[in-house]
Amino acid sequence: MFNIILFGPPGAGKGTQSLNIVKEFRFVHLSTGNILRDLIQHNTATGQLIKKFIDRGNLVPDDIVLRELFSEALKHQRKPGLIFDGFPRTVNQAEALDNMLEKKGIPVSMVISLEVEQEELYRRIIGRSVDSGRSDDVEEVIRQRFVTYEQETLPLKDYYHSSGRLVEVSGMASVPEVYELIREEIKSHMQASKRRSVV
Ligand code: AMP
Repeated sequence: MFNIILFGPPGAGKGTQSLNIVKEFRFVHLSTGNILRDLIQHNTATGQLIKKFIDRGNLVPDDIVLRELFSEALKHQRKPGLIFDGFPRTVNQAEALDNMLEKKGIPVSMVISLEVEQEELYRRIIGRSVDSGRSDDVEEVIRQRFVTYEQETLPLKDYYHSSGRLVEVSGMASVPEVYELIREEIKSHMQASKRRSVV
């Protein structure tokens, strides 16, 4: 199995590029944002709790996110690969993911970090907010989501860089141009991992 984490701030294009990867490589897309929004639709006590965090631009507690993400991921162990989109978002989540995958003998193969300048991120999210229907795509919450990203998620870059799994890709160009860069990285990493498994 080839497992990819798509890493980056809100508006970097993680969701859009995940769908492109799914189309070409037949990987399974696991977006914690989507999983959590689905739970809100069910209107359970957990759903209501999740909504409070999302609507403030804060992270949903790790125990809820880990439980939901792992139960989803374990359904797809026979697929060619997984794409983690919006997960992990804390070092604690990253360590839990490494432990879980290690037990299954399926490591994180690569972490693609989409690099986009702050001004462009705002422009994209404000543009998207018109028809996203997302309660957290409003200016005050967007600002808080960036603060949360800087404080809690950005330190993860070091975590993956130090274990040699981080690949930085510029996410500034158009969607097809950025995808071209991503697919080249995925292909070369897949080939390298095949070579390693042959040796
Ligand atoms: P996203 O769709 O990835 O932008 O996520 C939307 C919101 O869901 C975030 O602002 C968080 O409140 C919550 N969320 C998504 N993924 C996670 C995660 N891995 N850990 C904690 N909260 C998350």
